[in-house]
Amino acid sequence: MFRFAVSPCRSVIVPAAIITAGLLALPALCQTAAPAAAPVAPELRVFDSSLIDKTVDPCENFYRYSCNGWFKRNPLPADQTHYGRDTELYELNRLRLKLILEEASAPSLTRSANEQKIGDEYASCMDTATVNRLGLAPLQPELDRIAALKSPAELPALLAHLHAIGVNAFFGMGSNQDFADSSSMISFYGAGGLGLPERDYYTRTDAKSVEQRQQYVAHVHKMFMLAGEPEAQAAKDAETVLAIETRLAKASLTITEQRDPQNLNHPTDVVALSKELPHFSLAEYVTALHAPATGKANDMEPKFFAEFNALAADTPIDQIRTYLRWHLLHAYAGTSLPESFDRENWNFYSHILNGAEKQQERWKRCTRRVDEELGEALGQVYVARYFPPAEKQRALEMALAVEQAMGKDIDALDWMSAATKVKAKEKLHAVMNKIGYPEKWRDYSTLKIARGDALGNQMRAHEFDVARDLAKIGKPVDKNEWQMTPPTVNAYYDPQMNNVNFPAGIMQAPFFNGQEDDAANYGDMGAVIGHELTHGFDDEGRQFDKDGNLKDWWTKDDEQKFTDRAECTVKQYDAIEAVPGVHLNGKLTLGENLADLGGLWLSWLAWFDKAQTAHLDMHATADGYTPDQRFWIAYAQGWCTQTRPEQLRTQAQSNPHSPDEYRTNTVLTNLPEFAKSFSCKKTAPMVAPKPCRVW
Ligand SMILES: [Zn+2]
Repeated sequence: MFRFAVSPCRSVIVPAAIITAGLLALPALCQTAAPAAAPVAPELRVFDSSLIDKTVDPCENFYRYSCNGWFKRNPLPADQTHYGRDTELYELNRLRLKLILEEASAPSLTRSANEQKIGDEYASCMDTATVNRLGLAPLQPELDRIAALKSPAELPALLAHLHAIGVNAFFGMGSNQDFADSSSMISFYGAGGLGLPERDYYTRTDAKSVEQRQQYVAHVHKMFMLAGEPEAQAAKDAETVLAIETRLAKASLTITEQRDPQNLNHPTDVVALSKELPHFSLAEYVTALHAPATGKANDMEPKFFAEFNALAADTPIDQIRTYLRWHLLHAYAGTSLPESFDRENWNFYSHILNGAEKQQERWKRCTRRVDEELGEALGQVYVARYFPPAEKQRALEMALAVEQAMGKDIDALDWMSAATKVKAKEKLHAVMNKIGYPEKWRDYSTLKIARGDALGNQMRAHEFDVARDLAKIGKPVDKNEWQMTPPTVNAYYDPQMNNVNFPAGIMQAPFFNGQEDDAANYGDMGAVIGHELTHGFDDEGRQFDKDGNLKDWWTKDDEQKFTDRAECTVKQYDAIEAVPGVHLNGKLTLGENLADLGGLWLSWLAWFDKAQTAHLDMHATADGYTPDQRFWIAYAQGWCTQTRPEQLRTQAQSNPHSPDEYRTNTVLTNLPEFAKSFSCKKTAPMVAPKPCRVW
């Protein structure tokens, strides 16, 4: 399945391999066993003065000043690769979901169809005795199919089947809105097929990267041995996998290049694309996948597909079988296969690449799995219990206030021409706000979930998803669809839909709290809303017009001014050394950094306006802090996070989000209003000598 990237607000470090396995290596938070009773929300506050470290000068390091108390109270748990305030909420939500799932998993005649599915899927995932007893048997028919591949001519049908069951081999195919016409759903073909996090892991030559590749080969080697291969054969096969993936990687765009939609826009049609691939019958592939054999298509990476075509012809068929066998094992190595596979998968992706010391308890991973496979069935119950209509209303009011602030901000920009301002405001006013959950819930009635069949359930869930995705081609675009499930602690902007999306899961303390005042809520949730809105106008989002079409609406002069201003941000983040020897990538993180800076500024404008209208006394203190100080502290406290150095490295090299410390301090150094609130001198570390600002 493939979709053009949407822009989430928080980074979730998820090795691609683990996503396919339906098991996010997400920050697990609590080390304690789950409570038997309904989870009681801990006292989480958006603004919490007890977390402040007064021994730190706020003008020296505002992040440490705001978060040190939280760091002391929250040592990094062994099963986490990072632990932040989002993790606190994530774990609380996960306990709530566990309770729902435990209730649903008790067999009863009164269970609804959705309760049967989420309950039995959870129970199947938790049933390690059955998973271990079955061993590789449930996967054997798939291994046999791969073993039966005798010639390149048989590859298209086999690959279609593997894609349908969620195996990330060679490339990805799915529906997406046409870049030129966002009202139309067409076929998208994208690069894929890698087991390491992204293409540069195959090309970098520094000692650490060389070591990681050796560790990857050792991992693939072990997985083949677990699947029954003799040691020498498994060693040889692991080298084959690395060789094929390296070839694919070298033909792929870098993750920075992928951020520019122009680099991914190569309109064609299915028939024309098939002519570009003489060694791979696209006609047979789409027929087997039940995807359209004609019609508009986008070849996102022509160079990659040319290389894939060559590879399909000149790679010995036994090596293709080896590569496919690896990706099949890899896709199912989580909770569907015996613990030996699960453990080895964790060891490479979570321990080696991201530094986790202990695997997350199974219930945590099974809860995550049901959320991914049946998110809207599970989310429906979650929303009914934990997201009252009044909270939705208050969030919507905040979204509208931040939107209004952006209108005023655009009017006040001194670098943009009147003509471009008109277009920018048209786009702003066309943004659709989606809050909490979908208006119409997904229908899972055709998805069969059987108790005791963890692997079969995972496979059918993938097939259901792929079929659902492909059925959209040629149909009207459904703007009410969500890319995140309701309990998700995150948010996103979708440039082709031109909408902002805030799941119910993030509309909770410590990000949003109906009991706290506007200073706290705007400092945190307001900035999140501003962040997503600004994505519509970052280096990627600004290339889409109000209808979500990839269409230039800027004058040449304004475009140049935007680029010059953005360049200031690129340089600012390029200069940051995240771990010794690894700097942030200013271009890769540009969109997120612009969204952070613009988002906080817009929320500040919205809040300040509201405070003025309400004649709020700006000198009155609460807990010893003025309203404006509490606004900035609430912002910083939303980002309190401890991260393992291994994950910091992975994040700096492969994630478009800057580490949370810089999402706080670097952003604030650019805002004179912040410096004023804490009377910081011009020479203070928290004041940029040359502030950057676009929005
Ligand atoms: Zn973002």
